[in-house]
Amino acid sequence: MAQYLELKGRGPMRLLTPNLRLKSIYDLPIPWLRERNISAILTDLDNTLVPWRDYRVAGELAEWFRTLHDEGFRTVILTNARPSPTIQKMSEQLETQLVVGARKPIQRFFRRALEKVNASPAEACVIGDQVFTDVLGGNLMGCYTVLVERIGHREFFGTRIVRILERRVLRQMDRFRIEHEEDTDGAPIPQ
Ligand SMILES: [Mg+2]
Repeated sequence: MAQYLELKGRGPMRLLTPNLRLKSIYDLPIPWLRERNISAILTDLDNTLVPWRDYRVAGELAEWFRTLHDEGFRTVILTNARPSPTIQKMSEQLETQLVVGARKPIQRFFRRALEKVNASPAEACVIGDQVFTDVLGGNLMGCYTVLVERIGHREFFGTRIVRILERRVLRQMDRFRIEHEEDTDGAPIPQ
């Protein structure tokens, strides 16, 4: 079973700190979702599910969605990418809902995604690779948030600029994580 560390931000870092940090979506622990009565997953697209602007569906990704759906979770892709037939087709193949042309972290788009999966913020988990869009938006909304490592290195120019700031925030978070680990004698959070 995958080990994971739960994070709790303090002070001004609170809104930028995800509940969990994972290497990839495939490490998302289903027991962790169940314990929190999470019934819906709002996931980012670029660099979270697939490399930037590469919308071919790989078998492993389809399998991940199938498992979540079989386990009773409702899913929606929430992306700032512009609407395109390729993304539409991808969401159909994955049998998931879709909100495109969003402007995360603006709340309105998270609300639209929550409506699609018929969930309240407290029942939803936002997954993404960016602190200032996915994590901040999800936290502002009152959802659970999971930060994953980005899949590829290619991305939108504006994103690369924001990443500079993001790296500083993540360094802060890492410092806190070490303190947190010491607090609990380094014991992993039970699943
Ligand atoms: Mg992304």
